[in-house]
Amino acid sequence: MAGRFWDPDGARYGIPTYPFRMAPAGLATRRQLRATGLRPGGQEVAAQLLWFSHRYRRKGCPPVRVAYLYRVDQARAVRPMTPRKWAALAKANAARRICPECRTDAGYVIPTSLGMCVACAHPEEQRAA
Ligand SMILES: [Zn+2]
Repeated sequence: MAGRFWDPDGARYGIPTYPFRMAPAGLATRRQLRATGLRPGGQEVAAQLLWFSHRYRRKGCPPVRVAYLYRVDQARAVRPMTPRKWAALAKANAARRICPECRTDAGYVIPTSLGMCVACAHPEEQRAA
């Protein structure tokens, strides 16, 4: 049964094909990459795993499942939101609240229509208040 899906050169299936659990070293499924903090990173599918799964048998469909394999050496690190990235994002948001006129934190995002904080845009009203 293993021989049926053993096609390392892709002569039969078009791309290198291995039976389930027989993937060569250096190849991993998307899920396996993810488990180690990696992602395919735009690379092409390098190979595939084929296996029989009677659980997924449907009428008229062969009960064959496929999982695509990616090259581990071409995988890239997943870039999650680190505390540093959150800080950078907060800084970027904070920058949008800084009035370019008086350089203070207005406490709200500076309206693009004014281009400055309300106090700078309407100094008379502020003085009166
Ligand atoms: Zn201002």
